[in-house]
Amino acid sequence: MIKVLILGGTTEAAALAKTLADLRIPALYSYAGRVKSPKPQPIPIRTGGFGGPDGLAHTLQTGGFTHLVDATHPFAEQISRNALQASSTSGVPLVAFTRLPWQPSHGDHWQPVANVEAAVRALSGPRQRIMLAIGRQHLEAFRAQPQHHYLLRLVDEPTDPLPLPDCTVTVDRGPFTLDSDRALLRRHGIERIVSKNGGGDGASAKLTAARELQLPVLMIGRPALPTRPEVHCVDQVLHWLCHDTDLGV
Ligand code: NAP
Repeated sequence: MIKVLILGGTTEAAALAKTLADLRIPALYSYAGRVKSPKPQPIPIRTGGFGGPDGLAHTLQTGGFTHLVDATHPFAEQISRNALQASSTSGVPLVAFTRLPWQPSHGDHWQPVANVEAAVRALSGPRQRIMLAIGRQHLEAFRAQPQHHYLLRLVDEPTDPLPLPDCTVTVDRGPFTLDSDRALLRRHGIERIVSKNGGGDGASAKLTAARELQLPVLMIGRPALPTRPEVHCVDQVLHWLCHDTDLGV
């Protein structure tokens, strides 16, 4: 009997949860617990860390899980490393359900950078109005470029003081539309965007809006992870669950 643990926090994880619920395949959706009110799911939810790879392996074994799907965000590096290790120690097979990275197209002005530190360095220079579309975690690093005005888009209203001296917060959660992102960039007079290369549709509207408005984008590359079995759509996950657990790497 199949029982799936989904490591979530993404639109891909939600799509998988819906399909498994429709097919009545037993599954549990795991949230890290980073946002105040996570989106409801049509399957049972658990929230919070497992206590490292050993804790995750313990959950897999004691919970009777037969399959582990890592559907976390491509920048959630630690939990993906933990998932690999927990799969190996518990013997529960793992697949990563990931989205392909965004690629620049005609009319884009992207400057690729390897990581957040490189993005911070690339922002040296005169004051600009910058949309920092990277979530909450790495804001502190941008304190090194305090000359800019930053527009931050966050899922929750910040409760602690923000580390940036000159910023505006907009509280919103994806998926975002082209019309609203175009209007947001215009309203705030944004001259440049800093984005993680998350991929997928939910947060891509700002890139289309940037292309239309001829705005440069600093595109932060994904962290490198060890090779692992990987699929890119719900049907492939289902195939893996039902027929082909050993995808190889
Ligand atoms: P991370 O740095 O890779 O993980 C840090 C720790 O958080 C993990 O070691 C684990 O704690 C816990 N954790 C992370 N994801 C979890 C999950 N789905 N269920 C249970 N515990 C989880 O993760 P992150 O970058 O902070 O991302 C946290 C969550 O937000 C993920 O679910 C991710 O999909 C989502 N998210 C992240 C980003 C991003 O840009 N990083 C963007 C959108 C959504 P233990 O070691 O105690 O198990």
